[in-house]
Amino acid sequence: MTLVELKIVFLGTSGAIPTYERGLSSIVIARGDEIIIFDAGEGMQIKFLRSKLGINKKMKIFITHIHGDHCLGLLGLLQTLSLMGRTKPIEIFGEPRLQEFILINQKILNFNVNYQITIHTIQKEGLLVEEKDYLVKACLADHSILAFSFILEENRRPGIFNLERAHKSGIPEGQLYSLLQHGFDIEYKGTKISAREFTGPSRAGRKIGISGDTRPSKKLEIFFKGCDVLVFESTFTTQERKKAIERFHSTALEASSLAKIAKVKKLILTHFSSRYTNLKLIETEAKINFENILIAHDLDVINVPYPEKELTK
Ligand SMILES: [Zn+2]
Repeated sequence: MTLVELKIVFLGTSGAIPTYERGLSSIVIARGDEIIIFDAGEGMQIKFLRSKLGINKKMKIFITHIHGDHCLGLLGLLQTLSLMGRTKPIEIFGEPRLQEFILINQKILNFNVNYQITIHTIQKEGLLVEEKDYLVKACLADHSILAFSFILEENRRPGIFNLERAHKSGIPEGQLYSLLQHGFDIEYKGTKISAREFTGPSRAGRKIGISGDTRPSKKLEIFFKGCDVLVFESTFTTQERKKAIERFHSTALEASSLAKIAKVKKLILTHFSSRYTNLKLIETEAKINFENILIAHDLDVINVPYPEKELTK
C-alpha cells in the first residue's frame, strides 16, 4: 500500500494586518505530488517560494472569502508561477465574486498566464472535489461576508496485509500479492481467493479542517467532527471577546472549545491579530480546555501521518 505524505505548511498566520514576523493568511496542504492552497493573503508568494513547495505541481487553490487579507496575494502568485515557467493548469475555488475579482484584475493589469486557470464557483455547501483518493467539502462559516470553511478528507485505506498468511497459502509473491493488498479478489490455480482473507479491517484516512474566518458555530462543530488536524482561526484573546463577536472572529478559548466538542485530535491555531507580538496568552487560554494544541508560525511545517501514528512537527 503506497503511503502518501501529507504536510501542512503555514505561509501566513496574521489576521488583517501583517506584522514583521507574520504574513497574511495562507495555508498549504502538500499531499503527495499535489499542492492545495487555502487562502492567498498579500505577500504569500514570498513564503511559498521559500517553502520550496514547487512551482509546477498539480495545484488547487481555495479562497475562504474575499476579504483582502485572504485573497489579494492570489494575483501575484498566479503571475509569478507563470513567469517562473509553470505549464500545468490550476483550479481555483471560491464564492461567485472571486471569479469577477480575478477576471477584472487580469483585464486591468493586462496579464496573461501561460497555463490554464479554471475557476469553480462555490454555489452551495457540500462536495467540491472528488479525487481518486480524497474529497474536499465546504461548509458555510459565520463571518461578516459570505465565507466558507473546508475539509480535506482521504478515502479509507485497505486493511493491513497478513504477509504470513499469504506466504502459507502458497500464492506467489508479486502482482497477486499487490492485488490482494489493495483489496482486490484474485484467481489462483482456478480457485477464487477473496482479498478479505488476507487483509484486516479497512483503515481511516486523514481528515484536515480549515476554518477560514469565522465565529464558532454548531454547524462547524459537526463539519469538523473527528478531524485529525483542525486549523482554526484564533484572532483574539478572551479579553477582546466583544471585538471577536463584532467582527465575526473567534477567540483562542472559543476555538479550543469547538475543537473539544468536535473531538478533533489536534488543533492548530492561526490568524492572530497584529496586536499580539507574543502569543503566549493565546496558547494559555486555548489550553484551558484542550491540551493538544499548536500555535502556527509562518513557515511552520506540520507532518500529518496516518491516524494510527503520532503527529510530528
Ligand atoms: Zn475576513
